[in-house]
Amino acid sequence: MREAFFERRRFMKIKDLLKKLDFSLSFEVSPPVRNGRGDRLFSVIGSLAKLNPDFISVTYGAGGSTRDMSVEIASSMKKSGTAEVLAHLTCVGASKREILTILDELKSSNIKNILALRGDPPTGQDAYKKQKDGFGFAHGLVEFIRQYDHFCIGVAGYPEGHTEAPSLKADIDNLRKKVDAGSDFIITQLFFDNNDFYRFRDGAAKAGIDIPIIPGIFPIFNYRQIQKIASLCGARLPEALHKKIHAARDRNDLVEQYGIEYSLKQSEDLIKNGVSGLHFYSMNRSSHVEKIVRNLPWQNRIA
Ligand code: FAD
Repeated sequence: MREAFFERRRFMKIKDLLKKLDFSLSFEVSPPVRNGRGDRLFSVIGSLAKLNPDFISVTYGAGGSTRDMSVEIASSMKKSGTAEVLAHLTCVGASKREILTILDELKSSNIKNILALRGDPPTGQDAYKKQKDGFGFAHGLVEFIRQYDHFCIGVAGYPEGHTEAPSLKADIDNLRKKVDAGSDFIITQLFFDNNDFYRFRDGAAKAGIDIPIIPGIFPIFNYRQIQKIASLCGARLPEALHKKIHAARDRNDLVEQYGIEYSLKQSEDLIKNGVSGLHFYSMNRSSHVEKIVRNLPWQNRIA
């Protein structure tokens, strides 16, 4: 068991990990936005690391707002060997020269994995605007990073279609551009109906996309928060799930319990249907994720 643990740690590029493993486990964490201190976050990362993930991803705040913290947290995780790191990077408000500076910083911290994203328009701006000498879409960023041989590149996929895309098919055609530009794997937006994921996976296969697609799972723990997040990213809550958490909306303990039960069922079904891994949106909490992961049929992964 311990051997398997160290075996996994030896690989640094996620594409190599994914080739080697039948199945990957990963988590997303975010730099603190308000108080700017990472202490609590590092304690969460420590708890998540005990679940033996293959990598932990660190988000890049909207509009690059947490740029320094994102790079710092990713670098510190990499240095301490807590877990393999996937650093998110967006194009918002950045010129190619600025992106290059960040790539240099990541490279000098020996970070080898980047999730290349376009990003959302900053608050108060209706639509995404390409920065002068920047990138209009994520595929441009992927192409740019690909010139530097150092990095393994992941991109975002949308089981229900991206909110700005005219159709799922058009969005998958655009996803294909990111793959052709040199992406190595895809992590999806959160979704609650696995049929959406299976439809998306079939559509991607039809479009000739043959890199691993890792589903993103969001364990719900707060009714109002998920309402807001789902409406921002265009994720649909199935009626039965919505009804259940709405009825319990003033009892976060119950909403969390329902969220754990739902994510567990969702994950079990995805595993049965041959996904290449699971990526949990932790929202900088570990206890609910732990309850799910420890109940999945792979306990021997956990050291
Ligand atoms: P793109 O792939 O560029 O797509 C954006 C839109 O443009 C889509 O509708 C697509 O269909 C369309 N499009 C693409 N190419 C073309 C083209 N050539 N012509 C016309 N239309 C085109 N945001 C953050 O700010 N920080 C994060 O850390 C972060 N992490 C994320 C992690 C994951 C796993 C996911 C799924 C999303 C994350 N996001 C993050 C959100 C993401 O930035 C937004 O969803 C953003 O709106 C789109 O980013 P993208 O990389 O998918 O963009």
